[in-house]
Amino acid sequence: EQSISVLKRRLESNSSIRKHLISKITATGPISVAEYMREALTNPVAGYYVKNDMLGAGGDFITSPEISQIFGELLGVWCVSEWMAAGKSNMFQLVELGPGRGSLASDILRVFSQLKTVLGETDISVHLVEVSPKLSQFQAECLTGDNTQPSDGDQPVYRSGTTRTGLPIYWYRRIEDIPRGFSVFLAHEFFDAIPIHKFQRTEKGWREVMVDIDPESPDKLRFVVSHSPTLASSILIQKDENRQHVEVCPEGGVIVQKLANRIAEDGGAALIVDYGHDGTKTDTFRGFKGHQLHNVLDAPGMADLTADVDFSYLRKMTGTEVTCLGPITQRSFLKNMGIDSRLQVLLRNCPDPSTRAQLVHSYDMLINPDKMGHRFQFFSVLNRGRLAQYRGMQKNTAPLPVAGFAELDIQ
Ligand code: SAH
Repeated sequence: EQSISVLKRRLESNSSIRKHLISKITATGPISVAEYMREALTNPVAGYYVKNDMLGAGGDFITSPEISQIFGELLGVWCVSEWMAAGKSNMFQLVELGPGRGSLASDILRVFSQLKTVLGETDISVHLVEVSPKLSQFQAECLTGDNTQPSDGDQPVYRSGTTRTGLPIYWYRRIEDIPRGFSVFLAHEFFDAIPIHKFQRTEKGWREVMVDIDPESPDKLRFVVSHSPTLASSILIQKDENRQHVEVCPEGGVIVQKLANRIAEDGGAALIVDYGHDGTKTDTFRGFKGHQLHNVLDAPGMADLTADVDFSYLRKMTGTEVTCLGPITQRSFLKNMGIDSRLQVLLRNCPDPSTRAQLVHSYDMLINPDKMGHRFQFFSVLNRGRLAQYRGMQKNTAPLPVAGFAELDIQ
């Protein structure tokens, strides 16, 4: 009987979020775009990330770690290089926010294994922040061969186990549940999935864009502009704002603030990779389904919803206790990390022509300016002590001593 109700719920889930939102709007009026986005993506029963495996060729989008192992390997080298530069702390937490299928973490852990002699006796552990139980299963399979145990009830750690490479690994729903200590945080295509508010400049001042029921067809949703200011429009718009339309992601701001506080107090670094801009773009809220653009208000829960990350806003929210680097393009970052020589090594060791062609093709996807090379940006938050020595040196003569943001010094 239970399985019938699960099946029924699956069949209904197609329209259940829309129905739920329509009854909510009927009862209490239009909702913010942020609330719409949160329900569509992470509603605990029918949210897009909660019930789908959306990644990969058969899914709705494909991401850099899925395209080539080189991507994760170079990020693994970055993690180790930052750990070394920060003084080789004797404990090292690798934290990933929104790990998807687990490919990035898997490539990074392989690098950690290869660099065992460098990492020595360091107490390394892996911590994943993931809202989707379904994706956490994929991650467990990929990273541990499903050597994990789910926890009972509402524990902060909802799954734990041992990675294929022998490290302890834990799953959480929220960043604040991760233990304190030296950590390198990674967020790849995570911040673009965090809910945004949308605002429109009008003759009467800034107003929030809301989601309402379409009066012409009551089972459809449409955008409206609020009649009066909302709480969000009165606190989230900068005084000197000169755009006509603005998107703000306050939840993303709070997340980056939490990372910055930890990095300032416990040491470590964060690397945030996403498509985005530096406070210049306007309307970037988009839906994707089956690798195609999809109307954001059609079939909530069935399509991925994303908005470009505003790195200037993230930088502002990190405060004064940390140093931020970037954003720089994915092309520059990967070139600085030595992607060209890594490709050459792989090609040298690979006799099969079709695999070689695949390696070259995926390299091009990652760094070609017309593909992902310029669309994706790398942004880092570092402990302030990390650049103290550099700042003391003669200005602008030495290259920035942070891998990826300047050419990697391999010595
Ligand atoms: N980093 C992966 C997946 C990107 S998709 C890659 O690049 O391939 C976004 C990921 O973030 C998914 O794993 C999704 O379930 C997770 N996610 C989305 N919103 C979240 C939230 N509020 N808290 C934690 N994880 C979230």
